[in-house]
Amino acid sequence: MSNFDYDLFVIGAGSGGVRASRIAASHGARVAVAEDYRVGGTCVIRGCVPKKLLVYGAHFAEDLKDARHFGWDVPDCKFDWDRLRDNVQAEVTRLEGLYGQTLDNHKVTVLKTRATIAGPQKVRLADGTELTAERILVATGGWPHVPEFPGSEHAITSNEVFHLEKLPKRVVIAGGGYIANEFAGIFNEFGSKVTIVNRGDTILRGYDEQIRDRLLQISMTKGIDFKFNAPFQSISKNDDGSLTVMLEGCEPITADAVLVAAGRVPNTKGIGLEEVGVELDEHGAIKVDETNQSSVPSIYAVGDVTNRIQLTPVAIREGQAFSDSVFGGKPTVVDYQNVPSAVFSHPPIGAVGMTEAQARNKLGSIRVYTSDFRAMKNVLAGRNERALYKMVVNAATDQVVGLHMIGPDAPEILQAAAIAVKAGLTKADFDATVALHPSMAEELVLLK
Ligand code: NDP
Repeated sequence: MSNFDYDLFVIGAGSGGVRASRIAASHGARVAVAEDYRVGGTCVIRGCVPKKLLVYGAHFAEDLKDARHFGWDVPDCKFDWDRLRDNVQAEVTRLEGLYGQTLDNHKVTVLKTRATIAGPQKVRLADGTELTAERILVATGGWPHVPEFPGSEHAITSNEVFHLEKLPKRVVIAGGGYIANEFAGIFNEFGSKVTIVNRGDTILRGYDEQIRDRLLQISMTKGIDFKFNAPFQSISKNDDGSLTVMLEGCEPITADAVLVAAGRVPNTKGIGLEEVGVELDEHGAIKVDETNQSSVPSIYAVGDVTNRIQLTPVAIREGQAFSDSVFGGKPTVVDYQNVPSAVFSHPPIGAVGMTEAQARNKLGSIRVYTSDFRAMKNVLAGRNERALYKMVVNAATDQVVGLHMIGPDAPEILQAAAIAVKAGLTKADFDATVALHPSMAEELVLLK
């Protein structure tokens, strides 16, 4: 038995922290985890999970319309935001309970309080209690970044968007990334007038250009407005409660809500990191090595607070790798190659591996295959919305180095196809696979 109160003290019960706690405990470590908000973290409480439920809810707007073409008499339907919001929150609360139970079942001590670092092997709780631990794991995640401009206090972020009292009739969304495009789709389907305002001229930087262009075209056709090269100047509140958004080089826009989705910053302020000598990078993220160890040997970090890849499954892998390595005698390093990702826009995007531009730069000689098609379901529904699948192949080896898709269920299809890319399979391997007909996914094995 060591002289420490715990073998591991985890700060933050989000995706990375919960996984690390549970696995460390299963390897026999005495573990405590502190959480000052709700167990589950961003993903479960105010991110991926409630967002995906809203995406499902939003998609009914199209499904109900399309159903008529499939023979259903659908009366004019009315959407009730309060009901969806409350049902989503009830599901979030249920999941929060399950996360808590998992920790209890693994005999992890859950402390519902803020904890800060008081020394390399010491933490301080909000009530002043000090506890010692052989190792500390910081898994405090990230926080929405709100750029400074006059009236920024009138804007909401992804933290508040799930709790809106009323569905806003007009929404301005600042940013052109994941959250902006996902919520633009959600609000637009619910009938709000949506304007995306971007400081640059690109949405979803990092995704393949053709796929981004396709989303832009489809979003505009669905009625979403885009203002590019239009940094925010100010937001002011009007007497009737509406907001006026002033942008550089554009007419003012009146809105009922302004959602800022301008990236997320690591949650490293005010938790005592610098005081004990933990090095941060220029974005405020904890610098860690491939074993998740910081510049202070007893302090580790996983997930968004390290700003490597800000995705839940990556944080979970990092938490697992940390605990397996440190407490399970199974040294594990997370492999960041070919991490698939998705944007749950309307329609959604799925991608893995290199974009065409990245592959051209890196490999020189590549082959690109595309399938630009209308999903059978959309044809019968009279929905003029085309899917686009794109495969990037290393010409020298025939290896598939990138898959990029936009269309119905693209993330569901991409997850399975990502296995092939991760495994280094070739275009010939895809060609050798018999098509599953009729499906959208079959396009992947029929690319010419
Ligand atoms: P993103 O990084 O996706 O996009 C940020 C957007 O804000 C970009 O368009 C960026 O423009 C713009 N921006 C950045 N800084 C400023 C600024 N100072 N002023 C004005 N605009 C700015 O961030 P999100 O907030 O959308 O999402 C945060 C993270 O959460 C994502 O990076 C992702 O990792 C994760 N996430 C993942 C999801 C998923 O997996 N489906 C869903 C939602 C979030 P520019 O391109 O010019 O830099």
